[in-house]
Amino acid sequence: MLEKETIETIRNWLDRSKKVAILTHTNPDGDAIGSSLALALALVSKGIDAQVVIPDGLPDFLRWLPGIERSTTFAYKKEKATGIILDADLIFCLDFNDPKRLNGVEEPLNQSEAKKILIDHHQDLVCFADICISETWRGSVGEMIYVFIQEVFTENPVDKEIATCLYVAIMTDTGNFNYASSYPEIFQIVGELMKYDLEKDKIYSQVYDAFTEDRMRLLGYCLQEKMVVLPKYHTAYISLTQEELKRFNHRKGDTEGFVNVPFSVKGIRFTALFVEKPDRIKVSFRSRGNFPVNRIATDHYQGGGHINAAGGDSFLTMEETLRDFEALLPNFASELSDE
Ligand code: 5GP
Ligand code: MN
Repeated sequence: MLEKETIETIRNWLDRSKKVAILTHTNPDGDAIGSSLALALALVSKGIDAQVVIPDGLPDFLRWLPGIERSTTFAYKKEKATGIILDADLIFCLDFNDPKRLNGVEEPLNQSEAKKILIDHHQDLVCFADICISETWRGSVGEMIYVFIQEVFTENPVDKEIATCLYVAIMTDTGNFNYASSYPEIFQIVGELMKYDLEKDKIYSQVYDAFTEDRMRLLGYCLQEKMVVLPKYHTAYISLTQEELKRFNHRKGDTEGFVNVPFSVKGIRFTALFVEKPDRIKVSFRSRGNFPVNRIATDHYQGGGHINAAGGDSFLTMEETLRDFEALLPNFASELSDE
């Protein structure tokens, strides 16, 4: 619940705003895009010109979302995206806790004199905005946007399109209610969204049953050839080089979610995915239970995240990265192994 004073302040800012920019994080996921578009559509219903700026590539499985035409990708349309930010009277930042996660978009953000509102659910928030709304216990920012709309808007703007965007945000950030969703309120919110003729099963299919054949075969290759299982530490990891990605005609977003697949192996509590980029190796971590992967990401990979989902970068070769990763595991023996 927002404080009365905060609600009044935000209402005043909205009343004075003709143009609003909504920014979200690099390598955007369903929560980043879904919650940004939902907020944009809600603002449009108030007569505000709301635009979403995405730092880089939008995954194909999100391109069908309502309101997507209101998004601009900074990496491809730098001038237009910069203009949207600098022209905005008010800026929302969604689903990231540190301007570093903007991958270049922080430059125009810092130049802008507009008021800034941050809405996020990550730990270790750096409050760089005028108002920071942080709820680390929530599975998604999608829920926070639903609550924000209910509290701040005087007329309820939610319709089927907004409900669809919010549902995609909530569904994807909880792995279709597989994690980060064990509390009643998330289902109460979904219950409310269902009232807007939400096509829940169709949405699931549009997001998850959308692999290209190449992507499906890449996943098969990962599981057959690349997954390393370390039973002693209840750990499994997958690594992919640029050469391997090329072989499967890799497109942005193709490895999304691969980090979760090894959890289907009985006993796995900790998973990692290492994907080679031109300048670094992107590292993703996931855990089940209370093993804090954000600690490893922060301490060893210049990254961060949540207790069960985190990431960072390695600037070593793939071989060195994997060797160092395996060498780290004995440090966590008391948390990961049974002895
Ligand atoms: P993913 O593995 O899907 O890329 O990221 C999972 C989560 O880890 C993200 O939601 C984000 O919170 C965090 N994360 C991933 N990469 C980074 C990074 O480079 N820096 C920080 N601070 N957090 C990251
Ligand atoms: Mn999120």
